[in-house]
Amino acid sequence: MPTITLRLELHKPTLTKQAMYQHMTEINTEFANWLLLHPEIDKANSPIFKEFSNEKFPSAVVNQTIREVKSKKKNQDAKTFKKMWCCFNNQNLTVEKVGDYYTVSFPTLEKRIGVPVIARPFQQVWLDQILSGTVKQGAGQLYKKKKKWYLAIPITWEGPQPSESEKIMGIDLGLRFIAVASIGTQSLIFKGSKVAYTRRRYSAKRRKLGKAKKLQAIKKSKNKESRWMKDQNHQMSRQIVNHALANGVGLIRMEDLTDIRNTAKSKKKDPGRNLHSWAFYQLKEFIKYKAEMAGIRFELVNPEYTSQTCKCGHQAKANRNGLKFRCKECGYTCHADLNGAINIGKAISGLAA
Ligand SMILES: [Zn+2]
Repeated sequence: MPTITLRLELHKPTLTKQAMYQHMTEINTEFANWLLLHPEIDKANSPIFKEFSNEKFPSAVVNQTIREVKSKKKNQDAKTFKKMWCCFNNQNLTVEKVGDYYTVSFPTLEKRIGVPVIARPFQQVWLDQILSGTVKQGAGQLYKKKKKWYLAIPITWEGPQPSESEKIMGIDLGLRFIAVASIGTQSLIFKGSKVAYTRRRYSAKRRKLGKAKKLQAIKKSKNKESRWMKDQNHQMSRQIVNHALANGVGLIRMEDLTDIRNTAKSKKKDPGRNLHSWAFYQLKEFIKYKAEMAGIRFELVNPEYTSQTCKCGHQAKANRNGLKFRCKECGYTCHADLNGAINIGKAISGLAA
């Protein structure tokens, strides 16, 4: 089922409310860490909170936290939680529309409150669909980012039946060529020069503003650039998915970008590509949801060796030389990124975990 996450900024919460959200997060985090070490965590349900504290705390949040801690413990991927944001399942988080405004209500330390949210036009479309019941709302999360409070609400809906076509499209992302999509040896290529030029122009402008210490203008310019890049990503993802549809593709494969997102330096072929890792990540997300909305399956593959392996099977770093791929073993030549895209399509290093 296709999924997206709506991130709604709370509209001007009072200082009292902000302090309460902060306090709730702190209690919830302490509770999660306490629970993680509890000998009977498997049997835990909401009354266990009384063992932890006498403070009043919404049981809806407690239930979600218990579920989260249990699953983390099961997967053994948690030692301590740095932060456990408060979550509310769909019965405890209600979206409402009053006139032209949207509010979201959820339980807090005091009582259930309804707070206004800032809904951008594309978000309003989704909120209206939640209200009409055409999409399903998942568990919402109350979180803070850069001094602002948000509610993240995942949404799922019934997409078309997944395609049964065996045809695969592989997509390679890079700097020189932002995206190279291949269906077999047939390719659709998006050059990076326009993006690189525009981003250079923005950053040159910001350097000037920096010298003049115009901090507000720098922030504005950054936001403007993000919006521009997002728009580019929407257009590219739309073209890629349309191309896939027109060619009867049933499955799109892309490389797992977790690495370039989480580490400062990337081992991958373009040393500079972490420069816009967020933009690549966004492009991937857009392709994924547009594909799934169109009934095209989507998989992430392990990117290792995709850029240096030949169709004959020979794998060597020296096979790739900048834009060119030339196999040292059999002499096969190909556009390097297209070769990468083909290998991603074949998932030569397996699917990402
Ligand atoms: Zn070869």
